[in-house]
Amino acid sequence: MRAPLRTWAWCQIRVPSPTTAPSSTMAEGSANHVISTPFRSSPAGTGRRTVAYDPRGSEERDMRCAVVGGGVLGMTLALRLRRDGHDVTLYEAAPELGGLASPWRIGEVTWDRHYHVTLLSDARTRAMYEAAGILDDEIRWVETKNGYYGPDGVIRPFSGPVDFLKLPGLSLLDKLRMGGTIVLGSRIRSGERMERRTVESWLRRWSGPSAFEAFWKPLLRAKLGDTYPRASAAFIWATIQRLFAARRSGLKKEMFGYVHGGYATVCAAFATAFEREGVELRLATPIGAIRRAEGGGLDITTAGPDGPATDHVDRVVVTTAAPIAARLCPDLLEGERRRLESVEYVGIVCASLLLDRSLSEHYLTYITDPETPFTAVVEMTAFIDPAEVDGKALVYLPKYTTADDPLMRASDDEVLDAFLPYLERMYPDLDRAQVVAARVSRVPKVFALPTLRYSETQPSIATSVPGLYLAGSANLPFATLNVDDTLSLVDQVLEVANLDAAPATSRTEP
Ligand SMILES: Cc1cc2nc3c(=O)[nH]c(=O)nc-3n(C[C@H](O)[C@H](O)[C@H](O)COP(=O)(O)OP(=O)(O)OC[C@H]3O[C@@H](n4cnc5c(N)ncnc54)[C@H](O)[C@@H]3O)c2cc1C
Repeated sequence: MRAPLRTWAWCQIRVPSPTTAPSSTMAEGSANHVISTPFRSSPAGTGRRTVAYDPRGSEERDMRCAVVGGGVLGMTLALRLRRDGHDVTLYEAAPELGGLASPWRIGEVTWDRHYHVTLLSDARTRAMYEAAGILDDEIRWVETKNGYYGPDGVIRPFSGPVDFLKLPGLSLLDKLRMGGTIVLGSRIRSGERMERRTVESWLRRWSGPSAFEAFWKPLLRAKLGDTYPRASAAFIWATIQRLFAARRSGLKKEMFGYVHGGYATVCAAFATAFEREGVELRLATPIGAIRRAEGGGLDITTAGPDGPATDHVDRVVVTTAAPIAARLCPDLLEGERRRLESVEYVGIVCASLLLDRSLSEHYLTYITDPETPFTAVVEMTAFIDPAEVDGKALVYLPKYTTADDPLMRASDDEVLDAFLPYLERMYPDLDRAQVVAARVSRVPKVFALPTLRYSETQPSIATSVPGLYLAGSANLPFATLNVDDTLSLVDQVLEVANLDAAPATSRTEP
């Protein structure tokens, strides 16, 4: 008999100390940290495996599962389902894996389409790497420095409490109140409590109006664009909780990590594991519709490179944004559809620049100047080894915004024309001729905005259609945009979908 899923659900993995981290950065008296993670650890331990892995024997591959979306959530779910003994097909609309974390080409180099860091405390992400077969010594751990660009046009260091105390334009009282606000946020245990008021009213209450206007508001705009007035305080709570995650998991200091080669390495490792272990991968195959099939199960209509086709499966997990899922699933009840369509999303326009010079030593420069059209400068090569991108400087200029922003429809050149004069203003010795290559990513729906009391109205993972499950940031009311929180959905989906039980046709669904 198949082992019940729960026996795998909260296995503990030993998270080794980062190979390049000094031991003084770790909790005293421990070289390793045991962190609970909802990912079943790799059966063959760390390291790339070269032999086929068949955990339960072919007779137990009784459930035909489809995963829609080949982002980190879809890839991780597909591998996990396969290792739990199911027949799995992963459908991805794009020609490559990775979704928001997919790699792309900028000029002659390949790196992530959006900037990504992994925190030392991101246990699920590290378990995901391990599951895909990535060795721990392929992860580089780095301490980064940040900057702060204020309305006075000066870039200052912003990496710790001393830099914070030196910020201009804020009184000492403002700063003390802001520090107190962060400590308070770190001590609050319940996200539900924070959902009852807007993030603006909570920050004004604890930090005061001048600190809100000068500091918090620009930072909220940087992450939420013009949607910030509708966000609940759960947003800042989740952000602060993530900042304090290292301490909670016993680490003295947080560090940032990346996999050598970026997400191209991660996606390639998944593709190899899929091939070796028998996950069917269908790239460039957008799903058109998922419908109840006569006689039970679900029919998936695809529009792949070879034309439309229909596949029959027992279970489908859709990992796209909620409004897209609503469109793909015509058999949902009207109320379910309305709920999915009403989830408000924050999108992004993000320019990647390859420069033949570095801008600064700061990985992340926060921008509080309201005129600058992008919301941060992310100099990736102040974090990753420039050798990863041919010795060049890789810089991202993100603007979190909404789907109706004209920049979503602007050409790359138009976006660069809007952004680059401001970058030159920030770094006066920068010359546009130093931009070797540039590309712009536009994603209208990146993550679900946590609005007031969002958790009370969020869509559920299970649906009224037997065997159909929907999972994504719309199911994470108390999270920030990051891979680790996204991966918390893996166990939730498996639990809700009861994937170690009988096929959908014989079960009662909500
Ligand atoms: C600018 C930026 C910076 C970030 N920085 C970090 C960071 O530093 N650290 C961190 O941990 N996280 C970071 N993240 C967040 C991280 O990228 C996401 O949490 C994660 O990638 C979400 O994965 P997902 O699989 O849930 O969704 P997605 O990646 O959106 O995957 C959904 C997939 O569904 C596919 N799809 C859509 N419609 C269809 C269809 N009809 N048929 C088939 N497939 C379809 C899409 O093509 C996509 O590949 C960042 C994100 C952004 C945008």
